[in-house]
Amino acid sequence: MTNQDWIRRDLSVLWHPCTQMKDHEQLPLIPIRRGKGVWLEDFDGRRYLDAISSWWVNIFGHANPRINARITTQLGELEHALLAGFGHAPAIELAERLVDITPAGLTRVFFADNGSAAVEVALKMSFHYWRNRGQTQKTKFISLTNSYHGETLGALAVGDVALYKETYQPLLMPVISVASPDCYAREAGESCADYSRRQFAEMEATLTRHADEACAVIVEPLVQCAGNMRMYDPVYLQLLREACDRHGVHLIADEIAVGFGRTGTLFACEQADIRPDFMCLSKGLTGGYLPLAVVMTTDDIYDAFYADYDTLRAFLHSHSYTGNPLGCAAGLATLDIFAEDDVLGNNRRLAQVMADATADLVDHPHVAEVRQRGMILAIEMVRDKASRAPYDWRERRGLRVYKHALKEGMLLRPLGNVIYFMPPYVITEEQIHQLVRVAREGIDIATRDCTEA
Ligand code: PMP
Repeated sequence: MTNQDWIRRDLSVLWHPCTQMKDHEQLPLIPIRRGKGVWLEDFDGRRYLDAISSWWVNIFGHANPRINARITTQLGELEHALLAGFGHAPAIELAERLVDITPAGLTRVFFADNGSAAVEVALKMSFHYWRNRGQTQKTKFISLTNSYHGETLGALAVGDVALYKETYQPLLMPVISVASPDCYAREAGESCADYSRRQFAEMEATLTRHADEACAVIVEPLVQCAGNMRMYDPVYLQLLREACDRHGVHLIADEIAVGFGRTGTLFACEQADIRPDFMCLSKGLTGGYLPLAVVMTTDDIYDAFYADYDTLRAFLHSHSYTGNPLGCAAGLATLDIFAEDDVLGNNRRLAQVMADATADLVDHPHVAEVRQRGMILAIEMVRDKASRAPYDWRERRGLRVYKHALKEGMLLRPLGNVIYFMPPYVITEEQIHQLVRVAREGIDIATRDCTEA
């Protein structure tokens, strides 16, 4: 079977995520046969360096022997059992270890099976907490512009990426929106910290005005990933934690994309030295192997639900695959790798290599900014460098980079006009240099105004 055979079969039955299927009349679909380390290989034997960790999930490479072994062992013991009324070792051990490594005070673990589901759980738990405490007027959520929290209706409602949200607006609960601290918008000469601090004034005013009706503020700590990898300073999180406490509003940290070493620390909240009331984790949790998510929360939240059955205070939320043992086994193997290897130290070195290799790209006539937080590096292409006027989205400049990268054996799926690297942590220095070379060529091609690009 060749690529062509699989493509034909694929296009006759599958409906791919986040895809205008008609694009595949021109854009080749790539059927993947196997993966190893940073590489994905198709049925014609072509290899692609997975520079975006397969949508940010894969942190220790494809077919990682340590994760494979743990899942295989677990498979011989128990593939799945319900988690209501029953428990099992992988879920218990994983929960214990997550409590150990997340900010102190996050003592309870509720499992879900993907990032969006975790966000739904956190939203419902926060709302339900206030209800159980008699504060039934608290029904609203506060979120940042340009944020992304998933695609299910609740998660979509608290997010703000128009491309994904606008169509469904009539279905979504109203949210209170506050301007993002995203430092791309800072004034010339202004530091990111100063800008983020300045942006906090609107959050403070919103909390003052809406504390009575607000359940929680939900944020992606430090990097708004799906919102074009926009970044902000940890000071915003410190101010937010303090203000949420003062106003009696929960703080939900959606670390689904930034958790597990992505931003330089194990969890992004550590850089602000804060503990949220809810922390959502997924993606890297299983090393990118299996769909699994958790919502971590505090004793205070848990206690508000702990009561006699007939008080009807319980959190009666369930997913069939809650705490799937195979997913938990992958999670345990992932945490073992963090415990046994100097992952964060190695990432610091790799992040520096990425920074050095891309340093001169800021001088490119169509690059407005090269920004980085740990193992996330983003390059923003613009039509006009001086005014930062963006390219018209219909021109699909990023797609040109994507196509060039594929020809060169790299998977660099952009976000609009933003090219980014979010590679597995097992990438080598040499591979980073290859990646940067290809991205640079792709950006040259994409920003050259010729029709055949
Ligand atoms: N929150 C954030 C910050 C994310 O980046 C994502 C996924 N890109 C989600 C939530 C949703 O996760 P999932 O795709 O597993 O539903």
